[in-house]
Parts: sequence; structure tokens; C-alpha cells
Amino acid sequence: MSRFHRLSAANRFLTLLLPTGLLTAFTPTALSQDDASENRPTEKATDAKGAKKKGKGDGLPARKKSDEKLLKFAGEGGRIHHTDHYAIGYNTEDPTLRAFVHRVEATYKAVTRFVQKVGVEVKPPKEKLQILFFEEYESYSAYRLLTTGSEGSESTPGFFSPTDNRSAFFNYANASHLKQLEREIAEARQEMQGAAKFGARFDTRRLQALEGNLAREKERTNRTVVQHEVAHQVLFNLGLHAPVGERDTNPRWFVEGLAMMFETPPGQGGAGLGAVNQNRLADWLELEKSGQLIPLKQLVSDPSVIIPPARTAGAAYAQAWSLVHYLQRNKGKQLASYIDAIRKRTDKKTYTADEEIKAFEEAFGPLDAKFEEKYKSAIKRLPFKPE
Ligand SMILES: [Zn+2]
Repeated sequence: MSRFHRLSAANRFLTLLLPTGLLTAFTPTALSQDDASENRPTEKATDAKGAKKKGKGDGLPARKKSDEKLLKFAGEGGRIHHTDHYAIGYNTEDPTLRAFVHRVEATYKAVTRFVQKVGVEVKPPKEKLQILFFEEYESYSAYRLLTTGSEGSESTPGFFSPTDNRSAFFNYANASHLKQLEREIAEARQEMQGAAKFGARFDTRRLQALEGNLAREKERTNRTVVQHEVAHQVLFNLGLHAPVGERDTNPRWFVEGLAMMFETPPGQGGAGLGAVNQNRLADWLELEKSGQLIPLKQLVSDPSVIIPPARTAGAAYAQAWSLVHYLQRNKGKQLASYIDAIRKRTDKKTYTADEEIKAFEEAFGPLDAKFEEKYKSAIKRLPFKPE
């Protein structure tokens, strides 16, 4: 897919390259928490004490019982860390956790700012949202297998399961291809030191390229996986979507498009609002140039186009983002009424193509050639700053 080619060219040293959409599918089917926990050993409770206390500021309350359940999954040496909005079961080193916390809290705040701006009413979740953060892929994969029935691979370093309302990640720095990259960097540094000892010249370009690749790959994954999956979790828990039922009770393009609004750099105050998702825009521009955009009617009414491994999934992700971005920028009021109509779907059934088109048109007007033209020219006009 287009993104695949673009990244492949830019990152010769990385072997694991998939369209970002494929990394980020949320998993609507999972065993219940109780089913899963029966098969897990009980870990010692560590700092789950005092969990009933309310969080400070605008924080969500913690619940001791929920913490205890979470801890069972947290892996060897697992502990619970409370932030304002999350209970995180983790077994990583503290600096790794701190960076992670910064990102997931920034995502929560970005989603709430978005909600305020769009003007839909939401209720805060009743308790802290649960996240698991594993140091190693193996424990993450074991948890994934328990809750979703599929162990995944290192290329899917995170997921959110609405069924048990928990997201899970592993420390992506430990993915084998990043470890390999780190080894290459260490070797290049040694060569540089060796050269310096003997007063020889050393070409630093390869070292710099390797370091750049490592940093870019980590950042890309943090945004398209960690921020993306946690955005799904916050959006579901604030009630922006219909309660989880069958796979397509919610329009899939909308669930994915909304999450991608929060893949922009954290902490700039603009994620989900002012910022443009440059990676998705890059994909969109390539698709547009090569005439591969999916007709909007199909995107809106056919969830199969956006389910990996559909051939169209990469394109559909970029377009889903672009359509939500367009609606938020240009049709804010209508977007609020669309969200309200969708989240009232309590019948938990799969909606048909006709029903999806009808829901869209009731909020935004006819989804015709004129609509498509206006949308395309608006996206083409967005400031494009390749990263
Ligand atoms: Zn997703």
C-alpha cells in the first residue's frame, strides 16, 4: 500500500513496515474479563492500597476491586500506577512508564477538548480507565491471546478491547527489529570511538541515519498505536460511540477516523483540534494523486473496506481520518447531531449500508458528487508538512 512504499524508501534499515492502519485495528471481540482471569496466576498486590481514594483534581475515582483484577494481568513484578484518568498495570522501568503516562494523559485531555469543541454532552467515566503496559512482548502477547483469542505479533504492539474495556501495550523499544537497530547504533558508535582514538576520520552519516530511523519509528508507533488505541478507549468511555454490540453497530469508518484525530504530537494543545495528522494526510495525497481514493459512499457504508487485511484498508484509514477531519472543521454542528444519532444505537445490531448512508445524509445532507468535490478540495488545501 502507498504508505508501505513511502516508509520503505525512507527507512531502509527497518524490516517491519506495514500500513499504519494495519497496526491499529481495535478488537471488538474478546472473552470477558472473568473468563480470562480464571487462567492467570494471582500476582501479589503492590501499591494497590488506598485505591478507593478519589483522584485529585478532575481525576477519575480508583476502585480497589478493579485494581486487584488489573494486577492479575500485569505480568511478573507487576504494579499499579494511578494517574488522573487511568489505572495502569505495568512491569516496565519507571522512566519508560513516565513517558507513557505523559502520552496517555495528553490523549485523554485532547479527547475531552475535542468533545467540548464539538459540543456533545458526555459523562465522565465512573472510574479510572484500565491500561496494561508490559515490558516484554511475550507477556503482552500472552495477555492478548487470553482476551482476544489471537496472540498477534510484534507489529501489533497495542490494542483496545471494548469488550473488557482495557487497552494493552508492550514497551516497543523491546521489539526485535528495534533491538537490532540499537545494536547497529552501538556498533557504529564503537567504530566512531575507535576512529577517534587513532585520529582517523569517521563518517557520521550512517550513525545519524540509524539514530534518526530509531527515533522516527518509536514516535510513529507511539502515535499510531498508543495514542490511537487509548483514544478509542477514551471515546468509548465518554460515550461518543454506541455501546459495543456486534462488530458494526458503530460505523467503522467513524470509529477509526475519530481515533486518528488523536495521532498528532502530544502536548501541543492542539491534538484532535488544530493539528493536521500529517502521516495520514501524506497517505491521502498519494491516493488522490494516483486516483485510488475510495468513493465516500463506499467508505461510509461498507465496513469491509477498512478491516485489515482488506487490500483497501490502508487507503480507507487515511480517508476515514480525512473525512472526520473535514466534518469537524467544516460541519461542526452537523457532526454533533451525527454523533448523537449514532450513540443512540442501543440495539447492538449490525447496521446495513442503506442505514449508514441514511444516518450520514440525515446529519450532513446528500452524499453526492458536490459533497465529494468540496471535501476533496478542502483536504487538498490543508498545510502539508511531511515528517
Ligand atoms: Zn483503531
